[in-house]
Amino acid sequence: EYYANLKTSKSKSAEKGTNISKYKVNEAFNKKLSLIRADITTLEVDAIVNAANQTLLGGGGVDGAIHAAAGKQLKKECATLGGCETGDAKITEGYKLPAKHVIHTVGPIGEIPDKLQSCYRASLNLVKENNLKSVAFPCISTGIYGYPVKAATDVALQTIREWLEKDKYADKIERIILCLFLKKDVEVYEQLLQRRQGMR
Ligand code: ADP
Repeated sequence: EYYANLKTSKSKSAEKGTNISKYKVNEAFNKKLSLIRADITTLEVDAIVNAANQTLLGGGGVDGAIHAAAGKQLKKECATLGGCETGDAKITEGYKLPAKHVIHTVGPIGEIPDKLQSCYRASLNLVKENNLKSVAFPCISTGIYGYPVKAATDVALQTIREWLEKDKYADKIERIILCLFLKKDVEVYEQLLQRRQGMR
């Protein structure tokens, strides 16, 4: 089991968000990777990644959910950033979110592996530059942007694994979370993760 189904705890005033320490880690990724099914806006992590668009001014899907949960100040800060190229990433504060920061990355529209890979790399590099210890990714580009889930999952797992193996900061990072929203996406990720574990 690589994921846990979660209840959101935002409504409870005693808790700020969903504590991630209970999640199981995946052995194939230096015990740093967790696969969970949750609303990413509830996670208490150093950063959540937003699948944004080039304007960074908000949109539908996970982008809309993050802006709604973070409050208006997030859009204000985003408006100062001058947008973001596809494959690049920019960081802001988390405002009302339980996450300390939001890393906004712009995924490709359709299946463009280089650009999707670049999103994961740019986001992880911001994690490193800001000395963050935990980060949660949604399934970038697989919603409105139409990237096929299986192909996108392959890129995500490959890129994260490579980064964990090659980047010196990998020792310092405590947890990378793949935060899935849809049950069918969890099934795809689990299958591919198991296949990768078998490869080791
Ligand atoms: P994109 O435009 O990059 O395709 P979407 O937001 O449409 O972005 O979809 C990206 C992924 O985010 C999809 O897998 C979708 O199911 C998922 N998603 C939507 N809302 C949330 C949420 N609150 N938390 C986590 N994932 C979400």
